[in-house]
Amino acid sequence: MPKVLSDGLKKKLLRKQICESRILYLKIYCNIFAAGIIFLKNIYCMFGVTILGNNSALPAYDRHPTAQIVTLNEQLFLIDCGEGTQMQLSKYRIRRSKISHIFISHLHGDHYFGLPGLLTSFSLMSREQDLHLHAPEPLRQILDLQFSSADTRFTYKLHFHPLNDGGIIADDEKFSVETFKVFHRIDCWGFIIREKKKPRKIDIEKVTQKDIPAVFYERLKAGEDYITKTGERIKNEEVTFAATPPKSYAFCGDTIYNEAICTNLKDITLLYHEATFLKDQEERAASRFHTTTVQAGKIAQIVQPKRLLIGHFSSKYETLESFLEETASVFSQTELALEGVSYIVK
Ligand SMILES: [Zn+2]
Ligand SMILES: [Zn+2]
Repeated sequence: MPKVLSDGLKKKLLRKQICESRILYLKIYCNIFAAGIIFLKNIYCMFGVTILGNNSALPAYDRHPTAQIVTLNEQLFLIDCGEGTQMQLSKYRIRRSKISHIFISHLHGDHYFGLPGLLTSFSLMSREQDLHLHAPEPLRQILDLQFSSADTRFTYKLHFHPLNDGGIIADDEKFSVETFKVFHRIDCWGFIIREKKKPRKIDIEKVTQKDIPAVFYERLKAGEDYITKTGERIKNEEVTFAATPPKSYAFCGDTIYNEAICTNLKDITLLYHEATFLKDQEERAASRFHTTTVQAGKIAQIVQPKRLLIGHFSSKYETLESFLEETASVFSQTELALEGVSYIVK
């Protein structure tokens, strides 16, 4: 005979089930929350570049002049600041207060006409943290004239660093930025942002087995061997893993085709190179100190980055498919620099 449960027991069982399902839901929520935190942390800590403008001199077909945001750990760098950059920053929800360095490649308007507005807005938004501006020397006078004429008062300190021949221009324990000359009608610079070599990773199982004290972990990460009390040497490689190799992003803005720039582009993970015209416009490209699709592909063929990004498209072209087709026929790992898209340096 099946047992008949009393009403009291039924209620008790029901309460137990409700309680168990609540715990289950709570665990699921906790896991989703934890996964979300990890996801956000990964996004936040990534090394990547977001394109804000990919067109050449004239804005056209909803494409804007050059501007790019490089994200590296918690820092944002702005490379070039064409007209409309502020609107693009808002459109793609980029936290402008996080921008610590701005790099301006040259003084053609499509690369800096958005800058005075952005610098002024920082003040209107009561920015307090210092800002480093790396740019051709004449920009200092241009900005001084504009800001002194308007009696603009800054709420933050703007450090102007004139670009010289080349070398390291910004540096901290996690990254370095170097610059080099490219070949344009006026002085023009490229930029390379490199991650610093990362520390080795501790193999927790091995260090526990070998009884290495936690106070020594930092030295293990730096590559030191461990000597035990009895004088036994434990090789670093036995108890640590190699870190992921440092990655780099190179920006080669307006330039005529010139293989000489390749000597500056060693060990580049992601290379951005301008490709203003399609291959049938080689003469026109040369006369304007710009590069064609095939020429950009040739540079990548020599440099051998993991990927090539092309941009600075002439406003004479409405669509961009041919740019990808022609460049990829020379260097297959090519992508178009599309506005609003973030490319991870990997
Ligand atoms: Zn340009
Ligand atoms: Zn230019």
